[in-house]
Amino acid sequence: MDHDPRPGLSGVLPETLEAWLTERGHPRYRARQVADGLWRAHARSAKDIPTLPGPLRDELDGTFRFDAIETTEVVVADGGLTEKSLHRLTGGAVVESVLMHYPARASSRERHTLCLSSQAGCAVGCPFCATGELGFTRDLDTAEIVDQARDAARRLARDGRRLTNIVFMGMGEPLLNLDNVLPAIEALNDRHRFGLGARHITVSTSGVVPGMRRLTALGPQFTLAVSLHAARDALRDVLVPLNRRWPVAQVVEAAREHARATGRRISYEYTMIGGVNDTELDAAALADLLRGDHAHVNLIPMNPVAHTPWTASAAPVIERFATRLRSAGIQTTIRWNRGQEVGAACGQLAAERAGEPPAPVVARRRQLLVEASAAALRGERSREAVPSGVGD
Ligand code: SAH
Ligand code: SF4
Repeated sequence: MDHDPRPGLSGVLPETLEAWLTERGHPRYRARQVADGLWRAHARSAKDIPTLPGPLRDELDGTFRFDAIETTEVVVADGGLTEKSLHRLTGGAVVESVLMHYPARASSRERHTLCLSSQAGCAVGCPFCATGELGFTRDLDTAEIVDQARDAARRLARDGRRLTNIVFMGMGEPLLNLDNVLPAIEALNDRHRFGLGARHITVSTSGVVPGMRRLTALGPQFTLAVSLHAARDALRDVLVPLNRRWPVAQVVEAAREHARATGRRISYEYTMIGGVNDTELDAAALADLLRGDHAHVNLIPMNPVAHTPWTASAAPVIERFATRLRSAGIQTTIRWNRGQEVGAACGQLAAERAGEPPAPVVARRRQLLVEASAAALRGERSREAVPSGVGD
């Protein structure tokens, strides 16, 4: 898509749209008709809204885009339970979103969860994540974020289904794009717009402490998920480079503050990387860090990503890690991933990857990562007292 100067309508505030309409001499009720078309009927353009007069439809389409993203591909995996979509943005950048279907079970109703992107690429550069590998291209604007949800809702509506959950766990670090992410969350939550309950919206962060505070200040009970991956600074510096700016203790303190202010339990994500962050020492450090907190830990076996020397921890290691945390009173769930076969699992979204780098570059990169993680493990062990409980 060449650059399109028209703003995406789902990023326009209702009062701004109403003012735009009334300034042009249209009655106020047109605003409601446009909003119904946009948010309820998932219209792709004003032409799809039969209640509007023809000239107004043309005026609207000339000024705004109803769809700020163009969905160019949908790939289905896991026997239809996972759908990965590729979205082209104005200017040519591409991002991905993943729609996951969870059938009803005895204890829960069916769920349809969308994992959406907030940036094309990501500047944080976690070495086990394909998006981090891409580097940063650009922030998504509010409409480009929200329209991923509208696109999923439109597909679900064909089968009489509705989107029940949204997680900001696709490409990008949402809290480094707050000026677009916060209005997007508000639009998704507003019952006159997308209308999804705050509790059904989860924002995942690698630990941008000022952003976490701004999210807390927003008030409503959104779920905050924090990507921890290591409880010790020396290792987390390697796995989540932002840790050098906001060390793990500050991240956990900001998460506690969010829990206190909202009454909501914090979720921590912990990607299990074989031999890197899955040792007894790491389990003990994590248990110490979160002891007494109203927290929930999700252990995610690392999904394969090219250019890293690492793979998932073995299943028994993950089980042992989980047992260790539970015995410290920390609620822990193991998330066996889906979508791997089509590159749709956590950390595999790399819509813009332009082919493999040369083999020597990959080899050198792997070697550097191995050295860095080995140094982090050694350094911390020699500098710090071994936490209580190790080796029991
Ligand atoms: N940038 C945000 C949100 C997007 S990433 C964040 O980092 O929290 C969503 C989740 O996928 C994060 O918890 C991230 O650490 C995890 N992830 C990244 N790469 C992964 C991989 N290869 N295997 C498993 N999880 C991964
Ligand atoms: Fe960015 Fe999250 Fe990937 Fe880290 S894990 S590089 S923060 S998208």
